[in-house]
Amino acid sequence: MDFSLWSAMYPSDTICAIATATAPSGIGIIRISGKDAIAVTDTIFRAANHKKLSEAAAYTMHYGFIYDQDQMIDEVLVSVFRAPHSYTAEDSVEINCHGGPFILQKVLKLLTQKGIRIAEPGEFTKRAFLNGRLDLSEAEAVMDTISAQNEFALEASVKQLRGELSQLIRTLRQDILYEIAFIESALDDPEHISLEGYSEKLTEKCKALLSQVETLIASYQNGKIRKEGIYTVILGKPNAGKSSLLNLLLGENRAIVTDIAGTTRDVLEEDILLNGMQLHLVDTAGIHSSEDTIEQMGVEKAIEYANRADLILYLLDGSTPITEEDIRIARIVQDKKVMVLLNKKDLTQSIGEEDIKSILPRPVAILPISALKGEGMEEMAAILKDLFYEGEVTMNDQIYLTNLRHKQLMDQVKQSLLQVLHSLDQQMPEDFLSIDLMDAYKNLGFIIGEEIDDDLADEIFSKFCMGK
Ligand code: GDP
Repeated sequence: MDFSLWSAMYPSDTICAIATATAPSGIGIIRISGKDAIAVTDTIFRAANHKKLSEAAAYTMHYGFIYDQDQMIDEVLVSVFRAPHSYTAEDSVEINCHGGPFILQKVLKLLTQKGIRIAEPGEFTKRAFLNGRLDLSEAEAVMDTISAQNEFALEASVKQLRGELSQLIRTLRQDILYEIAFIESALDDPEHISLEGYSEKLTEKCKALLSQVETLIASYQNGKIRKEGIYTVILGKPNAGKSSLLNLLLGENRAIVTDIAGTTRDVLEEDILLNGMQLHLVDTAGIHSSEDTIEQMGVEKAIEYANRADLILYLLDGSTPITEEDIRIARIVQDKKVMVLLNKKDLTQSIGEEDIKSILPRPVAILPISALKGEGMEEMAAILKDLFYEGEVTMNDQIYLTNLRHKQLMDQVKQSLLQVLHSLDQQMPEDFLSIDLMDAYKNLGFIIGEEIDDDLADEIFSKFCMGK
């Protein structure tokens, strides 16, 4: 870390924020952190036992009242944390108020009148990072933990929070640094350190590093799907049963409501949990009623969604023969991961497997269902489990990359290592090797924040929620 940068970023004032959701609830917590946290809280808090918080031991909780001069505002419990053993590594206080937004705002205002600044989103965690309590990937994991919507997302982020990814990155960096140091020493002191036979050794080393980096990169696609849900687009001509399927899935499995405020709602998007798997459903039925869906949403839009999809659920009405429109949709989706749902299996069937294969040669599965009767969903879940979870919806010991920033940096690390291998192959001078190794070393450092600039930290922490 560049220390001039460090001191520029290093926080010196005291901050406060409401750390809980601002809706009427049992309790609401105000968090204060910085060198004046305890002293300023003392000016608005009167403990029932008349003791001052400044004299209180760390990790103790105190019962009393918040006062605005002589007016009592709330009955509270106050926790005291002392540097460096707190979330931010600074002196901190948490005031447990009654959970009314009005009360919380009132207490917050009192604090700001005493000179405490309202925190930026994520500023508590940013301080934890700047004070060395968390590295960058661990700090990012805090936010991922808060926004986790399924078991996998939660486990992956908690693992990252515990530092498993950081540990791996640190080991990779150490390995690379060793090689850089060796090359540099040999170049400085050729009489004592020989580079003979070194290029074979470095080739082996780089190949091993590359393989670890590639495994991490490969984990991203799977990790992303598991963390954010399988991006599933439902397509089918009008009356195929898209709305019925969606209602069936939502009715049984509605767990999470995705609010996509501000976006154009040309489709409906919903997240559901199906046997532990999160599906991000994109329902083109949302835009139509009875007319030509594909025509109405525009072939281009359909292609756009199909391209983005991890999975397409292509609905056919099994009770009527295949139509021109079915064929048109099949053409759009033919190169994608398509599961054909042959709907209305409760009625006499007019479509067979051969008919489907003639318009769509390589579906990942063809499954008869009845959206009306609620049949076929268990079978669908089993297929999804095989397709996206290698048959097991539990976490394994693998370390997953789930953050796009990490994945992009890892791609660059891969390029640098490939470049080193290329230079070795071409017997280029050793300085070339150390330049590319240094690039790999630095980009790994960006993941955990050992290399960082102000803008990056601001960008990352601004995505956090208030009070965290
Ligand atoms: P969409 O236009 O693709 O959204 O299709 P809908 O879900 O609105 O369904 C069209 C019609 O087919 C409705 O009358 C549904 O009740 C009916 N339908 C949907 N699924 C089934 C099914 O599995 N069996 C039967 N018999 N009818 C179904």
